[in-house]
Formats: sequence, structure tokens, C-alpha cells
Amino acid sequence: MPDVPVGQAGFGCRAGNAPLKDRRFGPRGAREGHFGPPGAVSRATGRGQPPDMPHRAFIGVGSNLGDRRANVAEALARMAEIPETRVARTSSLYESEPHGVAKNLFVNMVVELETDLSAVDMLSRLADIEDQMGRKRAKPKAKPAPAAKGKAAKAPAKKDVSRLIDLDILFFNTEVVNTPKLRVPHPEIPRRRFVLMPLAEVAPQLVHPETGLTVSKMLATTEDRKRVVLMPPR
Ligand code: ADP
Ligand code: MG
Repeated sequence: MPDVPVGQAGFGCRAGNAPLKDRRFGPRGAREGHFGPPGAVSRATGRGQPPDMPHRAFIGVGSNLGDRRANVAEALARMAEIPETRVARTSSLYESEPHGVAKNLFVNMVVELETDLSAVDMLSRLADIEDQMGRKRAKPKAKPAPAAKGKAAKAPAKKDVSRLIDLDILFFNTEVVNTPKLRVPHPEIPRRRFVLMPLAEVAPQLVHPETGLTVSKMLATTEDRKRVVLMPPR
């Protein structure tokens, strides 16, 4: 496991300083390699930099079981080990109220990756990390039994979303993918303050390819009222 340096409020990662071929997400300036809170900037070391990678992916990271900070740090370190991929930026850590019936607060972060992998290959690498870290996958649901005559069907149980680690592809370039295994952009982005807050820290001007809205605009207009707070540095 590589040692990923820990920033002031979040986790810092070495960032490349070479210009990217794909500038669809706008120019990269002073905030590149940002550690923790906005404004904190780190310089690339330049050591062992891989060549430019054509794709840019934003990954949502969440954990609400066990040592949540350690889980997020481990996931980040494992993402830094994905072949043909590097970590460009990380947001600060945020603590968020769960949606659904989970009780524990989540720790959330967004990670920007540069990669040669396709979105589908990236998804499978992220699923491997979730598996290696011991996330238990929900079994596919059996079809509900039909309601007995005269009785109303049971309302579906609210989902307990507790998990050791959750890694979601939020955006992958400006790609729009709608398959049973992969949906990009992640369909819940506009309804999840816990995604929009860290995302707005690393990519406020990023444009949703389907709605044309920036991350800043989505954050300003989301109807999600769940509490999300910046975590203090440890
Ligand atoms: P969520 O993160 O939305 O609460 P889960 O992590 O439980 O849901 O869902 C995992 C499944 O979601 C995976 O089997 C994966 O194939 C599918 N999936 C679809 N789109 C994405 C995406 N953009 N990122 C991650 N998983 C996705
Ligand atoms: Mg997920």
C-alpha cells in the first residue's frame, strides 16, 4: 500500500503538473494538487510522473462503518494503485447525515482521477477495491410475493445504505452511459448534498453533460436538506 500523504483537512495526493490533452473540464490552474480546504495548494514532485492520461473521472467515496476516515484513506491509497491511473485532486473530508435508514454518519470525499482506462474498466477496478476492503454486496432481491387477496401489498422497506466503503463514478469525461451495470453521470448527483459539497470544492465549474448545470448551480439548487459538514483536521 503506498503512503498517501494526508493533507490538512483531507487527504493530499501528489498531482501532476503536465497539461492535459483533454480540457473539456476547463483549464487547470492554481488549485491543481489541492490538499484539503480550498486555497491550499501543493506542488507536484515530478518524480515518476506517468504521461498524460486522456480521461478524467470524479469518484465519490463514502464510509459509515468502522474507522471511517481510515477506510476512506485506504480506498484513496488503493485508487492511487489502479494501473494507468493517477490521483489528480482530492476534496476535504465531509461528514454527512445518511439517506435511507442507516444510523451512522458518513464520511465523504470526492477524488479526481486521470486515467487511460474506460469507464467500464474503472467501475470494475472500483468494485475490486470495495471487495478487497470487505464490503458486503447486497444480494439481488427476490421478487416480492404477490399480496394476498384483499390485502394491500407491503410498502418496500427503506434501504439501509450502511457500508464500509462505497465508490461511485460520478462523472467520466462528458460521457453519458445508461446500462444496467453503469450509469454515468451518476443519476443521484443532483439529489445528494454529500456529493455536491466535496465536488464543488474540486470542480465547481464542471458541467453536467445532460442538464448543462454546473456543480455550483446544482449545489445551490439541490432540494437535499441533509446535513453535510466539513470535518475538522485531525
Ligand atoms: P449506491 O452507491 O448508488 O448507493 P450501490 O453502491 O449499492 O449503490 O450499487 C452498486 C451497483 O451500482 C454496482 O453493481 C454498479 O454496477 C452499479 N452502478 C451503476 N452506475 C454506477 C456508477 N456510476 N458508479 C458505481 N456503481 C454504479
Ligand atoms: Mg455505489
